[in-house]
Amino acid sequence: MTELNVSNIQFFSTGDGPGIRSTIFLKGCNLRCPWCHNPETVSPYPQTLVYAGSGKTVSYGIRMKIDEIIEAVMQDADFYSSSGGGITISGGEPMLQAREVAELCKRLRELGIHTLIDTAGGVPWENFEEVLPYANCFFYDLKTPDERVCAETVGGDFHLIIGNLKRLVSSLADVHVRIPLIPGVNSDDDSLKKSEKLLASIGVKTVDLLPFHRMASSKYDAMESTYAFRDTEPLSEKRIEEIKSIFNENFSVTVER
Ligand code: SF4
Repeated sequence: MTELNVSNIQFFSTGDGPGIRSTIFLKGCNLRCPWCHNPETVSPYPQTLVYAGSGKTVSYGIRMKIDEIIEAVMQDADFYSSSGGGITISGGEPMLQAREVAELCKRLRELGIHTLIDTAGGVPWENFEEVLPYANCFFYDLKTPDERVCAETVGGDFHLIIGNLKRLVSSLADVHVRIPLIPGVNSDDDSLKKSEKLLASIGVKTVDLLPFHRMASSKYDAMESTYAFRDTEPLSEKRIEEIKSIFNENFSVTVER
């Protein structure tokens, strides 16, 4: 029986795709973004976070059979159909579990449920080939348009990530590029222009901007991990609007709050 390495499932999620959704966060990621908003999903191993102030503990990481996942998420099936929602599979890097994700999407598709994969793309193209026939939509992160910055910040194979994005767009999949706006990394004018040029050359049509925030600080504390962006100021509303207008010229743009 096929199992997935699940971090946690978030029900009634409204920021991870259209309509009301359940987001299945998978555990394990092959990148190391120092600003990561979901640090508890990066390690593939189970973890328990202990929050110092309240003493609250939260555990992440459980192997779940596909039947168990479907039973859990189908409890909200009425909400998906009434809102145009569905299931988002995120992480971590869900495409590291491509074969299992493909099977889950296939089962959900048979039940008439919309599926969306949220990926950073740094996996062999064969992984996408497994999932492509069954997923309705992809959110694809562009962390940086610059190979050097990629190597110095998130790691991973820049050419593989961009190559997969090109192939995904060429395959006529429904692809929305997501750009996390990280101060000091990719939100200066030069980087943004480079991102814009790169995405236009690939034929991307829609871009979601995700401004950096520090809401994950307490998770890093509870994990006793270093958080390099603890003192980084989020971008101002004015700057976010300026950035939006840069992308507005060639793309359909949304800002995720
Ligand atoms: S790709 Fe996503 S989950 Fe992985 S480290 Fe980066 S932000 Fe975190």
